[in-house]
Amino acid sequence: MELIDCVDSEWDQLDFVANDRSTFTARGQYILWDTRRLESYLINQIHLNNSEVQYQTRLYGYQPLQDSISAFANSETFNTSLIIDCMGHSSPIVNATNSVKILGYHHLYGRTLGLRRPIAPIAVDNVILSDHPLFLEIMPKSGGTANVVMISPSASTKLSKVLVDDFNFAITKTHYADVFYPLRSSEELQGIVPIGRMRKRSLDRILFFGEAGQIHPAASCTCLNRMLKVYKETAKNIEHRLLTNCVSAVGLSDAIPQTSLFSQRFHQNLFRQLNCCSSDQVRSMVELLHCLNEKSLDDLIFGEVGFGHFIQTDNLRRVTRARNTIWLAPLLQTLFNL
Ligand SMILES: Cc1cc2nc3c(=O)[nH]c(=O)nc-3n(C[C@H](O)[C@H](O)[C@H](O)COP(=O)(O)OP(=O)(O)OC[C@H]3O[C@@H](n4cnc5c(N)ncnc54)[C@H](O)[C@@H]3O)c2cc1C
Repeated sequence: MELIDCVDSEWDQLDFVANDRSTFTARGQYILWDTRRLESYLINQIHLNNSEVQYQTRLYGYQPLQDSISAFANSETFNTSLIIDCMGHSSPIVNATNSVKILGYHHLYGRTLGLRRPIAPIAVDNVILSDHPLFLEIMPKSGGTANVVMISPSASTKLSKVLVDDFNFAITKTHYADVFYPLRSSEELQGIVPIGRMRKRSLDRILFFGEAGQIHPAASCTCLNRMLKVYKETAKNIEHRLLTNCVSAVGLSDAIPQTSLFSQRFHQNLFRQLNCCSSDQVRSMVELLHCLNEKSLDDLIFGEVGFGHFIQTDNLRRVTRARNTIWLAPLLQTLFNL
């Protein structure tokens, strides 16, 4: 509730659209953050805690000492009890210590656009027919605009020009052309979400959080949601470990509440499937959503999926009737740890 003023919009539905325009509409409670307000709120909280935010400061090294750790950033050395690494996909610590086995990346590219008419929020629309995955996401904002982003899984961190071209095509030439108009000044919305398996969740006096710590469900990459869900409990755990001087790699390894191993693995395997899925397979995924009850769907999106969801009679009956098998490969890979 303390973040309620940082919410831009609330919806009770979210669409998933296949290339043949078949649509699944999820019913639930979904919100869009006002990122600027959320950032200002969090920065203000940091200041109220007598802490400081430094900009344009690049961490380029660290040195573990007997009873502390030093972080080297620009020309300064910070001596501290603990480094919390939230440096996202480009974290030099994660990369240098080989702490994650990268499976790939989600690339996101888009803009805030004006809306000519109201539109329902769309989680994914596989708008362009293809042998590779490409999804348009549309999040309407208050004030008659929308965040519109093209998302594509990729093997590398290099932003593909094709993604930018496909985004421009989708918003200016397809059936969406009469929905959007360009805003005079709108920043690009761009990001890279890394997907991988953590080899080490922590090092001595270093804890990986956010994307750097792979705390997000791999297939839906809802990392912001996950961070907001667990940051208070994480802070409490960290405080306890600092007070008890339990800041070794082992002591820190369970400081962040994780989703179940089954859920992590299932999402990673779903991401692997998403990485190479054609428009036909996306249609099967949208069809699969029709077979799931609302709770199962929310659990799938937000990374709480468990084996129990696969043996629920209702879900099973509907999936069998639809002869939908798209979920089998990630399930078997998860069960047999492939
Ligand atoms: C367009 C878009 C839409 C999204 N929508 C959603 C959504 O609907 N729901 C959801 O849950 N998530 C969403 N996400 C994902 C979510 O926003 C990110 O996963 C989340 O912000 C990651 O936060 P982070 O702090 O882990 O990493 P980042 O936000 O990547 O922050 C890493 C920071 O570390 C800094 N850094 C990197 N290297 C160094 C260094 N050497 N020294 C110092 N600083 C360094 C970077 O400059 C950056 O500021 C979306 C992302 C994008 C791009």
